[in-house]
Amino acid sequence: MSAPTPLEEELARRIRSSGPLTVAEFMAMALQDPEHGYYRTADPLGRAGDFVTAPEISQMFGEMLGLWAVDGWRADGAPAPFALVEMGPGRGTMMADMLRAAAVDPDFGAAMSLHLVETSPALRARQAARLGGSRPRWHDDLESLPPVPLILVANELLDALPVHQFVRGPDGWRERGVGLDPEGRLAFVDDLPARPPPDEAPVGSVVERRPAAAALVAAVAHRILSDGGRALFVDYGYAGGAGDTLQALRGHARVPPLDGPGTADLSAHVDFAALARAAEAAGARAWGPVRQGEFLTALGIVQRAERLAAARPDRRTTIAAALHRLIAAGAMGTLFKAFAVTRPDAPAPAGFAMPVPDEEQRP
Ligand code: SAH
Repeated sequence: MSAPTPLEEELARRIRSSGPLTVAEFMAMALQDPEHGYYRTADPLGRAGDFVTAPEISQMFGEMLGLWAVDGWRADGAPAPFALVEMGPGRGTMMADMLRAAAVDPDFGAAMSLHLVETSPALRARQAARLGGSRPRWHDDLESLPPVPLILVANELLDALPVHQFVRGPDGWRERGVGLDPEGRLAFVDDLPARPPPDEAPVGSVVERRPAAAALVAAVAHRILSDGGRALFVDYGYAGGAGDTLQALRGHARVPPLDGPGTADLSAHVDFAALARAAEAAGARAWGPVRQGEFLTALGIVQRAERLAAARPDRRTTIAAALHRLIAAGAMGTLFKAFAVTRPDAPAPAGFAMPVPDEEQRP
């Protein structure tokens, strides 16, 4: 383990005075502490950073989401004005690619105002440099968005929201916490009272709960019901339980989650089934999750790659490699998923299979 970071020292002081933190409190401080939090201090994205996201791999990803946005706006009756909203826009790469693709429909651009929900000052500056021409407005959260229909997109935002972890011990459920070992370094402790306990499970099981993500999806669903529009979340995760998925990345390598808080990215798999329940409990309709590979293929990414390669034969190998990374099983195509929220009566959004049973009806 490396020497304690300033944030580790701050966390240790808190733990000594008021006891262990929950994993969710630890994650929230490691990522969002105003002075030392990972997302507050640096630009973590890209080749030189800690991880690479789909929009940083290829322009094709944002282009497909731009077409998705135009299609959804048309399906909603082309409302004017409307708000195009991105949560956690990173370097602004995806939105720049979306806007370029969405220019196929000039009415979309004419009716749109651009809104970016971002907590990181460093990334806001990068977004301003990239998207300034579209005169974006920045927001700390959804509360300050104008009361107009919205087309909301977010890539790899939900995985950064804090998770609670519960461990089934011999005497019932306990919440996993972060305390101190005998040397005063951060260590997991599985002894916080868990209330209310999650479902039954064998001793040793770990389950994760992410109330911040459920609350966010519920708030988006309420906005869609009151003002109209739709939302698309792309992230890595599963439908149902997957155990302990907390992971830390530094310089593209996995490191122990408690090592160097504030200097590594922390994330955990997204439970899309829980988010679908949150959207539907709010009265909206949840779509998916569908695998990213199938979603992007349905939107036409293979044809887009062919067009790009035909225009730049010298780039053919690079374009093919990026396409493979985005859609192939074992690359990002199956672990990453798309999930959408619409009004209950909306037809299937682009890229989401029609809700028809898979069984063959006639022999
Ligand atoms: N969507 C980008 C960036 C993903 S990294 C891409 O795909 O490349 C996560 C992004 O979410 C960063 O921009 C980070 O600063 C932002 N973020 C993290 N927590 C947030 C929160 N609670 N509210 C808004 N943005 C948040």
